[in-house]
Amino acid sequence: MDQLVIATHNAHKLDEYRLLLEPLKIEVYSLADFHIDEIKETGETFAHNARLKARAVKKHTDMLVLADDSGLEVEALHGLPGVHSKRYSAAATDQANNAKLLQAMSQATNRAARFVAVVCLIDEAGEEHLFEGELHGYIHTAEAGNGGFGYDPVFIPVGHTATLAELGMATKNKLSHRARVLRKVLHFLEQRG
Ligand code: IMP
Repeated sequence: MDQLVIATHNAHKLDEYRLLLEPLKIEVYSLADFHIDEIKETGETFAHNARLKARAVKKHTDMLVLADDSGLEVEALHGLPGVHSKRYSAAATDQANNAKLLQAMSQATNRAARFVAVVCLIDEAGEEHLFEGELHGYIHTAEAGNGGFGYDPVFIPVGHTATLAELGMATKNKLSHRARVLRKVLHFLEQRG
């Protein structure tokens, strides 16, 4: 049976991955199983950060390694907050990040944005594979909804009139950038048998 290490301590992400990987009968491990601390995201792109994390974990194991990085890119802000999504505001809380974003967007007429998730998978032989998932949408004018996390209360996906936080987890998990990138990873793992 394939064994896979997911380079995260985030229990929410781990559950999401475990659920999606279930059909493949893969044994899933996390950083906690390897006693590896959270790896610093010092890269300037999502792909760079995903690669940094995957390589750091690969040093400890021969298993398949999966690492991801994700965030929000806003057109009117030239791609910000981007790789700095988690620490966009000084307080670096979801509430402060959303308040800063709404303030920065208060005069903006172009409200287009996208969530991006990049996965770096390193196979048993050390070969690296990159995958990307995205979700296009718009920045709302105020926070709305209690579900989800991060920028969900201010992000309205294309084709919807409510924010991700209002739409709820079941809908989000079908259309999110993470769900999309994971479907690509899943397809790759299925193909290689
Ligand atoms: P990371 O991939 O855990 O480093 O995520 C970086 C940051 O991007 C998070 O802390 C959130 O602020 C934002 N982010 C990533 N994915 C989502 C999402 O699905 N909803 C809302 N915010 C997200």
